[in-house]
Amino acid sequence: MHKPKIYILDVTNRDGVQTSRICLSKLQKTMINIHLNDMGVAQSEFGFPVTRHETNYLNANLELLSSGGLSGINLSGWIRATSEDVKTAFKLVPTIKYLNLSISTSDQMIVHKFKGKLDHASVIKEMTEAVKLARQSGAESICVNAEDASRTNISYLIEFSQAARDIGADRIRYCDTLGCDTPFSIYDRIKILAKEVALPIEIHCHNDLGLVVANSVSGAKAAVDSGCDAYINTCVNGMGERAGNADLVSVILAIKYGHGLEEYALDERINLKKAWKTCKYASYAFGVPIPINQPGIGSNAFAHESGIHADGALKDRRNYELYDYEELGRGDPEIIETGRQITAGEYSGIKGFRNVYEKLEVEFHNEEEATKILELVRYANVHNQKPLVDDELKFIAKYPDIARKIFTMNP
Ligand SMILES: [Zn+2]
Repeated sequence: MHKPKIYILDVTNRDGVQTSRICLSKLQKTMINIHLNDMGVAQSEFGFPVTRHETNYLNANLELLSSGGLSGINLSGWIRATSEDVKTAFKLVPTIKYLNLSISTSDQMIVHKFKGKLDHASVIKEMTEAVKLARQSGAESICVNAEDASRTNISYLIEFSQAARDIGADRIRYCDTLGCDTPFSIYDRIKILAKEVALPIEIHCHNDLGLVVANSVSGAKAAVDSGCDAYINTCVNGMGERAGNADLVSVILAIKYGHGLEEYALDERINLKKAWKTCKYASYAFGVPIPINQPGIGSNAFAHESGIHADGALKDRRNYELYDYEELGRGDPEIIETGRQITAGEYSGIKGFRNVYEKLEVEFHNEEEATKILELVRYANVHNQKPLVDDELKFIAKYPDIARKIFTMNP
């Protein structure tokens, strides 16, 4: 018998980057995909296949996947559930295999967003036509997103989801778009939905009430209790629209260490050893500091000062620590250069560049190759507009042709 599992589907490169005031370059988005892959995340919603400035980045990352530069993770695009978007997506990104097709299902949005253009029946019609076309165009895995599912009449939500299933959708995404659910309401609704639809359920929550991780875990529990796989949507460091999405590391920690969840299977590929590195990189790339009290990753997450706590933690870490810092990839000293430093940037020359790569223990076959990589590093710096990190420099040297595509934009 199929034992349902909880998988992680990270949406940093979609919901995270569509957030006000923050953004990532295409190289930074690529590095996020690599970090998520290293953490054993099942899927990265890596962008918008109908958005022209994403095209080269998306195609280059699919190439990275097919050439083995990413292994294990699936890359999915987000589009509206319309035939027009499906056509454009496959025209611009022909090898895309995973798609999320999104349409609003609540009366609030059907009436006040579609303004009479669509009703209950035509929302289902648009969606089913889009799913059919996506399948014909080569999509291997299709998830249908019910936007504003938490404010959708439950019987209509079930009808909509069953129609998606009957036309061949592989999953349903329950979106708490406004963050109005509580762990109680989302549990009850997803329990019924999963039972009636019998498809894997994606749980997409927002933090407007500060309940995002609790809601996500509760929704996943409901799906599993109804015999369905669950895919929790996360963002690194809880980035995302308004108050943010579910924080990747917090969700994983909650499933691993939360009381009452011992029997719930988390995707065994998940590896928190890379969590520290991933979160630090995302913080640098977004330019958003990690709060000192962020679960697992904040600088206070394993700090003790008050007499009783410090004494207790020193006697036995289990007195005041729920999990080990080593599990999150913490504990190694970080070396900061305080003397002379040669850096590689947009105006670098070959000698300084060589010095930087020698320190990274990257060797070039000949002068020609070094010159080629130097040129790409210059462009990468123009592209990122901040100093490149070691992993970015190594990536460019290892995948120069893919890197070139990522930096290329033709407006
Ligand atoms: Zn969202």
